[in-house]
Amino acid sequence: MYKYLPIAVFALTPLFGVAAETENDRWNLADLYVSADAWTADSVKLEGQLKDFAGCKGKLGESVRRFRACMDLEADILRRFERLTSYASQTHDQDTGANIGQDLSQKSDILASKVDEATSFVRPEVLALGRKKIDGFLKQDKALAIYRHPLDQILRAAPHTLDAKGEAIVAQFGLATNAGGDVYTMLSNADLPWPTVKLSDGTEVKLDQAAYTKYRAVGNRDDRKKVFDAFWGKWKEFERTFGVTFYEQLKKEAVYTKVRNYPDSLSRALDGNDIPPAVYNMLIDQTRANLPTLHRYFKLRAKLLGIGDLHYYDMYPPLLTSDLKYPVAEGKQLMLDAVKPLGPDYVAAMSDALQHRWMDVYPRPHKLSGAYMNGIAYDVHPYLLLNYNDDYESVSTLAHEWGHAMHSHLANHAQPFITADYPIFTAEIASTTNETLLLDHMLKIAKTDDERMLYLGSALENLRTTFFRQAMFADFEREVHAKVDKGESLTGEDLTKIYGDILRRYHGDKEGVVKIDDLYAMEWAYIPHFYNQFYVFQYATSISAGSMFAASILNGEAGARERYLNILRAGGSAYPYDLVKAAGVDLATPAPYQAVFARMNKIMDEIEAIQARKKS
Ligand SMILES: [Zn+2]
Repeated sequence: MYKYLPIAVFALTPLFGVAAETENDRWNLADLYVSADAWTADSVKLEGQLKDFAGCKGKLGESVRRFRACMDLEADILRRFERLTSYASQTHDQDTGANIGQDLSQKSDILASKVDEATSFVRPEVLALGRKKIDGFLKQDKALAIYRHPLDQILRAAPHTLDAKGEAIVAQFGLATNAGGDVYTMLSNADLPWPTVKLSDGTEVKLDQAAYTKYRAVGNRDDRKKVFDAFWGKWKEFERTFGVTFYEQLKKEAVYTKVRNYPDSLSRALDGNDIPPAVYNMLIDQTRANLPTLHRYFKLRAKLLGIGDLHYYDMYPPLLTSDLKYPVAEGKQLMLDAVKPLGPDYVAAMSDALQHRWMDVYPRPHKLSGAYMNGIAYDVHPYLLLNYNDDYESVSTLAHEWGHAMHSHLANHAQPFITADYPIFTAEIASTTNETLLLDHMLKIAKTDDERMLYLGSALENLRTTFFRQAMFADFEREVHAKVDKGESLTGEDLTKIYGDILRRYHGDKEGVVKIDDLYAMEWAYIPHFYNQFYVFQYATSISAGSMFAASILNGEAGARERYLNILRAGGSAYPYDLVKAAGVDLATPAPYQAVFARMNKIMDEIEAIQARKKS
């Protein structure tokens, strides 16, 4: 499931009732279950299957027949569970205040832990059987072929697996090593005593996380500075404590790295999806070498906002504002026109899906904010949650989320259940490619320079936050993990110093591009993704691959479209780096990153050309 992480979330204040909502603007959960009773009946079935599955424990290696029956039963359990959990979470998300959604979500959480518990023996048992025995099974029964890749994912862990006694100890300690992250979540979301500021118009604002995201973008510069100073000043008071929680997290990762016999935490984190560390390192090398492109963007931002000495608190006000409206019917049509380069089949499938209530379109009181796509209900269809409010960002988000939906749709049709779901490494390629196609289309049909500026500005901002900001986070993660892997200790003060150096380097502080005030280097403590290590870099690699695919498809390169669609159809049937490479984009080489920089510079060329036209 791809909850859209709060990286490029545009949902500011939801404008309730933008358009009159009809039944067609609501997703149809009856496609999953006709009623809550039907859900309960299916959950009873699941519990029965879990009991049956207990009979597989210790018996997987008994015979190929037994092995296959158990693999099939496990797949069926997961398939049923994913349908159940989709209904539960979406019932909750469409009205977070309703009892029914809360009730189903809790029940679904309980089911999730039962499924985990009931299937937890499979991994160690497959590892104990070993590759030779499993290969023998695969040879004996061709129907097992669909499990080849999932089994390989387990078997690859063999060199990093301990004996039974060792694994039992690791499992026990696993229950006792989450304090760093848990304390962090509690403190940063609930317990931090949020400061209050008085803005120039007299409004008093309590700056919690949500208010900070809203008010850091206000037009009045003094207010922005006030918001930054108050917010980061509060985090600064807890620098020592956040230092301890993050250092605990880093140490935990370093310990697992040693126990699991990896050279470093980075290699261990990437190994699950078999992504070569060279991808990560290439991303950072290329980003560092191309910081002048980012600095060009900052200078352009300063110019467009009319600011001489750009500071870090000037990052969030929108480059441009616009009154242009894009009602959802128009947004859908624009998207359909934009994805034409992906071929008639893709367009027809999307067009058909748009008429079948996959999507909950508009904001409503108590509806979950933001946007996401959920494509795990294999036998039904993907679902999308939006908070569409008729602006251009809404159209862009629509194209992004439908990129995910079509990915799931194609994978679910081309793959058996067990290999349909895909990792984030390829997921964000499908969404960013569609965003790029949308931009290309919008620029072609734009009637005025102001309109063009709106599209270019939005795309530019997206590239900064999805590429450069994530690459900067990745750079920081690599550095602090490497230190702790080597046995160095880190305090909150050390972390602020390291983050501050990186922040200044990326923002050209020394070159006078953006001034980074010391206090704002506390930002490292604010990024929750650092507790999910070596994850965010995939936003940057995805948008790079997406830029390259979109460019080759738009240029009409022979076979480019099919190669790209093959990634989508492949779902999770192979390792994601290999899939992307087979389609012609090697993320361990400079080319895809060069495609992002080229795209960003092209956008800035066009903006500057428009600015020059305006002046003359
Ligand atoms: Zn996404």
